[in-house]
Amino acid sequence: MSRAALPAADTIVAPATPPGEGGIGIVRLSGPQAGLLLAGAFRGRVSPAAMASHHLYRGRLCQSDGGPVDDVLAVIMRAPHSYTGEDVVEVHCHGGTQLLRSVLDLFLLAGARLAQPGEFTQRAFLNGRLDLAQAEAVAALIGARSAQAARVALSQLEGRLSRQLHQYTDTLRELLLLVEAHIDFPDDDLGRLDHPAVAARASGLQAAMTELLRTFDAGRALREGVSVLILGRPNVGKSSLLNALLGEARAIVTDIPGTTRDTVEEHLVLGGVPLRLVDTAGVRETADPIELEGVRRAREKALAADLVLLVVDASQPLTAEDCMAMELAPPERTVLVLNKSDLPPGCDPAGLTKFPRRVAVAARCGGGLRELQVAVVEYFCGAGGSDLQDSVVLAERRHREAVVAASGAIERFLAAEAAGEPLECLALELREALAALGQITGETTPDDILEQIFGRFCIGK
Ligand code: GDP
Repeated sequence: MSRAALPAADTIVAPATPPGEGGIGIVRLSGPQAGLLLAGAFRGRVSPAAMASHHLYRGRLCQSDGGPVDDVLAVIMRAPHSYTGEDVVEVHCHGGTQLLRSVLDLFLLAGARLAQPGEFTQRAFLNGRLDLAQAEAVAALIGARSAQAARVALSQLEGRLSRQLHQYTDTLRELLLLVEAHIDFPDDDLGRLDHPAVAARASGLQAAMTELLRTFDAGRALREGVSVLILGRPNVGKSSLLNALLGEARAIVTDIPGTTRDTVEEHLVLGGVPLRLVDTAGVRETADPIELEGVRRAREKALAADLVLLVVDASQPLTAEDCMAMELAPPERTVLVLNKSDLPPGCDPAGLTKFPRRVAVAARCGGGLRELQVAVVEYFCGAGGSDLQDSVVLAERRHREAVVAASGAIERFLAAEAAGEPLECLALELREALAALGQITGETTPDDILEQIFGRFCIGK
């Protein structure tokens, strides 16, 4: 599937809009026969052969026996100026399930092939219209769960990440050229390799990569969303906090301790970060098997959660059950929520020093929620974090692994350089760094990985 592959000879077709009823439904074709297939079915004032590229034309779609299917708008986007780089046709029909099925069947009968998931984008990649990072951004943009996540994906689609990576690879190629020249012509008038200058450039590159890697946690949080667990003994106000954050009463709030036995999962977007908020069973000392099961689950969830909101009742002295909850919460991944701050303070803060991140709230009346939101967003995105969309961000695990591998190779290069190892060894590490970065943009990505990536797309993308 490498980019050297010949252009596909067949023409693919798929619905481009989601299934179900809608104002319009779009069927998309791509391939050398796209225009001909349209011509076989389209009756209008302008025949498809005469249509200007990228213009919409009105007409009627008919079956081969002349039977009408739908009144449509059709557009041809001629190669190479189309999404896939091939001739692309879009037929805008009325959006009905049966109607779209009929239009699809019409083109299938006429010789088009049903597209595989992601095949349009795959063709765009194979034809050099997008690199792999940009193709992945298409999927991320479609799947984005917040406006910020969408902006990060759009910036990747526009090629900002790719351009940054190309700056890295340009530097690596220059270094490689220099090292190789000294391997090939050691005694020439090139002079000796300027080791300090080479090392300085490589270190600079590595520092830039470290900087890029730092954006990953925030990028991942925006892309994938994060899980936040609300933990605390019964009656400290966990359900109230959950409801306040959600702005609506979903979990039952009562005065009887231990009523939130089941875990409830809710989704919300905070400062651009999509969160899965989990209200958990109150942590309490108990012999009740249902409660015990709840505590066991709380323990598991505290281990798995990206962030724990540990709630205590700041108007009461800490209890043994509070201490149990504190045991479950990993301090480096916890924000301590001092709830009921509307009441006179009653708990001794000395017992809570192991949690440096803390916010006072009054869940019942919504006090302090803004500060809590800021603390949560800062935890995931760093201070001023939700401005992230304006910088180049790593958001895919695959990309991070590749940058880590490249940075590792540069580190070995620097060590080998400092140890005065042969130039061949230095060149080897530089080539490895180049290959690792090439995996992100798709230049050196193995075919099975490419297949996996495009296979994750929906049909018609
Ligand atoms: P949970 O068992 O931890 O889920 O606690 P709930 O959310 O059910 O709250 C227990 C009790 O504390 C209820 O009577 C709430 O109204 C009350 N409560 C919760 N948050 C606050 C708060 O900020 N201030 C005050 N004064 N009471 C609160």
